[in-house]
Amino acid sequence: MWSSRLFWRLFLTYASLTVVSAVVFVVIFLKWQQEAVAAEVRQRVQDEAKVFLNVADPSWADADAPLEELRSTWQPKLEALGREVGTRLTLVLADGTVLADSAADARRLENHRDRPEIVEAMDVGVGFSTRGSRSVGEPFEYCAVRVGSKEAPRGFVRVALPWTPFAARLQATAQLVWSTAFVVLVCTLGLAYWLAWRLVRPLETLTAAAQAIAGGDFVQKVSVTNRDEIGALAGAFNSMSRELSRRWEQLQASRRERDENSELMETVLGAMREGVVVIDAQQRILYANAAAGPLLDLPTMQALGRSLFEVARHPRVQKVFEDVLAGRVPERVEYEVPRTSAIVALIASPLPGQPPAGAVLVLQNVTELRRLENLRREFVSNVSHELKTPLTTIQAYTETLLDGAIDDATHNREFLKRIEEQAERLHRLILDLLSLARIESAEEAFELLPVSIDDTVRACVEEHQAVASGKGISLVTKPAPDPVMVWADEEGIRTVLDNLVGNAIKYTPSGGRVLVRWHIDGRRAVLEVEDTGIGIPQQHQSRIFERFFRVDKARSRELGGTGLGLSIVKHWTQVFGGSVEVRSELGRGSLFTLRLPVVSRIIGASPHGQE
Ligand code: ADP
Repeated sequence: MWSSRLFWRLFLTYASLTVVSAVVFVVIFLKWQQEAVAAEVRQRVQDEAKVFLNVADPSWADADAPLEELRSTWQPKLEALGREVGTRLTLVLADGTVLADSAADARRLENHRDRPEIVEAMDVGVGFSTRGSRSVGEPFEYCAVRVGSKEAPRGFVRVALPWTPFAARLQATAQLVWSTAFVVLVCTLGLAYWLAWRLVRPLETLTAAAQAIAGGDFVQKVSVTNRDEIGALAGAFNSMSRELSRRWEQLQASRRERDENSELMETVLGAMREGVVVIDAQQRILYANAAAGPLLDLPTMQALGRSLFEVARHPRVQKVFEDVLAGRVPERVEYEVPRTSAIVALIASPLPGQPPAGAVLVLQNVTELRRLENLRREFVSNVSHELKTPLTTIQAYTETLLDGAIDDATHNREFLKRIEEQAERLHRLILDLLSLARIESAEEAFELLPVSIDDTVRACVEEHQAVASGKGISLVTKPAPDPVMVWADEEGIRTVLDNLVGNAIKYTPSGGRVLVRWHIDGRRAVLEVEDTGIGIPQQHQSRIFERFFRVDKARSRELGGTGLGLSIVKHWTQVFGGSVEVRSELGRGSLFTLRLPVVSRIIGASPHGQE
């Protein structure tokens, strides 16, 4: 309150107005009072002078009578009369000589010719003067009346009323008026203070509340009890604050919702593998999600604000954009990112508006898709080719037999044997294809169980022993000191081993050796199939796990190979969460190494728990 400028302005304005009016009123009043008293005194002194003139015997103004005689007559008379009426009476001769005086000895009084009342009376008949008496000492109101004409004056009667009682009355009045004015002033100042307070206080409350609202605290309620415009203002303020607070809440809620939505949108767009790019009608990139960066071959942040065609310079992209803006349904286009050679498919949709305000582009990296398509195409052609060869052979032999060779006792059995061989080859091929298809289609669904490497290798070696011996190959094992269990599918691991051991025997010449050994290396079981066979040239070692890849096609076929064995091995080891690799030296032999997750001794441990 004390710091409120409005308060002080109001209060000081009231106060100064009140003080000035009070002072002006008192001064005017006292002035008027003084003038009224002065007029009254004059009137009285004049009346008394006239009475005195009538009462006095005019013989005193006899110019011929001796002065002392006259004086001795009139001096006592005047003294008696003066005492009686309580007024000073003076008789002055025409030349100014004081004849008699009720309050002083006339002989000692100086000539009164130059007294203002005498001078004035000489001129106009009656003269007044207010002054301190040189003879008596106190202030008097004098009134002199001329006796005789102006041209021939005979003398003057003068009456003097003492001012003291009137002055005392005036002073008492002034005191009363001043003290009354003071009391009124104090009350008025108190009232002014209260009025200013009453006006400023609610305004201060409102200001504080408004400042709080400006500072963001919208829940404000001012309690102002005034029943005037300020009260109405406070009421309006309270409802405004309520409304503001309600609107603010709504705004906050909708902003929260929007933030959540945009966060959700950002998360969804960020998690998308497809690139999403929003461009305006001038082709400037307004938004690009994280996946869009690599597809535009540019960090996402750098893409913003740039023109799409700076980023993806391809006439087809330009065409798609033009189609979208023209309202045509754009085709899906594919283009190649120059630096990475990635193939990107682009689909565009217009943004709302007529013409569209821009477009949303969805970019998809289809490089892998295209690669897989190529693989599939290649695979189909390989399969067809692989199937065609034995079928053609079977067909040829069958026709030869039908054409009469069936009766040729020396060749017919041989032809039939060839047919059987090719049928067998077809059978193996189909079995391998089915096996591959099974692994690929059910990669996730295999239930991995602990499988004993010792048992599996033993069974496998037993099965291949006869063939190995037949070829003069020694097939031996070197087990780990302790039994080894791995997480695998029993049939799957058996297939893997069969393929590796079968290949080793197949590609090892007579007199060679095939060794199967295994041990544990940390959390992995390491199973190695080593042979002293023909080996694999260095440049082919990375490709032998591809489907239908064979170093020497004719030889493989001759040996009954399908070209799918190692591919099956690789797929199975992936299913088991393991790996397979080859080390080989041409003419000296090959070493295939399998690494599989080992089953720890803790019961219930899973392969993934062990990783
Ligand atoms: P295939 O049925 O022809 O044996 P695989 O997929 O099992 O097909 O093997 C692919 C190719 O890898 C074989 O054709 C062969 O050239 C080569 N290969 C596989 N194992 C051996 C090995 N132990 N020694 C030499 N070459 C091998």
